[in-house]
Amino acid sequence: MEIKRIILRQIKMDLLHPFTTSVGTETDKTIILVEVKSASGISGWGESVAITQPIYNEETVETNWHMMSDHLIPLLQGEAVQHPDEVSGRFKKIRGNFNAKAAIEGAVWDLYAKENNLSLAKALGGTKERIEVGVSVGIQQSEALMLKQIEDYLKEGYKRIKVKIQPGWDIGIIRSIRREFPKIPLMADANCAYSLNDLETLKALDEFDLMMIEQPLDHDDIIDHAKLQSQLKTPICLDESIHSFEDARKAIELGSCKIINLKIGRVGGLTESKKIHDLCVEHNIPMWCGGMLEAGIGRAHNIAITSLGNFTLPGDTAPSSHYWKRDIIQPEVEMKDGYIVVPEAPGIGYELDLEQIEALTMYSKVFHF
Ligand code: MG
Repeated sequence: MEIKRIILRQIKMDLLHPFTTSVGTETDKTIILVEVKSASGISGWGESVAITQPIYNEETVETNWHMMSDHLIPLLQGEAVQHPDEVSGRFKKIRGNFNAKAAIEGAVWDLYAKENNLSLAKALGGTKERIEVGVSVGIQQSEALMLKQIEDYLKEGYKRIKVKIQPGWDIGIIRSIRREFPKIPLMADANCAYSLNDLETLKALDEFDLMMIEQPLDHDDIIDHAKLQSQLKTPICLDESIHSFEDARKAIELGSCKIINLKIGRVGGLTESKKIHDLCVEHNIPMWCGGMLEAGIGRAHNIAITSLGNFTLPGDTAPSSHYWKRDIIQPEVEMKDGYIVVPEAPGIGYELDLEQIEALTMYSKVFHF
């Protein structure tokens, strides 16, 4: 591959529904897009999942812009990159900053797949023609609203329901959901809200036949999760704690989890994602792909990685219309009967809506090679 230019764009997109977190309500999302242009005139696209505040991990949109501009892109200038697997090696001396690394590496992967006339899914070794879609339900203002929301999602065809839990919004709400929907594939995501002091509460969840409980303990822990897993029947799924192949290896060795949620941006890219996938195959650890409120490009990357064989559980890659008034790809990602078809066209398999991207761009920066 002969990279001629990299273009960074910062765009702002309107969310279809306001998104409420512990720090407030967001009505739009600021996103960095990476376009890697080759001498052949083909462009590969990547998207950073970093948000404006360092509340999921330490990264933000601003730190990503700085890391990409001043540290990561310069490491690709000079000697040509032959294969996208080389990109993570070039970036290795820079610690952390996985969202920023993954966005650039993802664009290089897309370019590589397009230049080789392969879908990104095929280029990664994906085998599935369609993927199962689950949905995540946030903490609601009342139990009735939660049950109504779940009923609506089930009607739309989603293959599993994930509910966010936190102390005070856990056993009671799960019991009510199970009373109403005894058989649905149901899981709970605790987003690090508990400690080992909450052992009795977490053990009480065992009676509800949950597919898994996701990241109950600290964002950087694998030791206490191992202690907890030994006491629980419900499988623990790790999300925030897994940043690399090495983290996954250690967590599996310790018995900290029985399932892994993979997020490409959290582990620094598709090459590392493939390595974690293969490790999980070896150890019989089922996987699924998590979501970070991606726009179309990031969503397409998630679909491609989910086409690999060991993503056996429904992921969080919902259709575009679940989040956006208008996405930045064409056609938008669509779901039918709870499935998304893996596109076969070269690269990410969707056309970029360049007019929409242009309209949303707040500023951009071009790097010449
Ligand atoms: Mg999670």
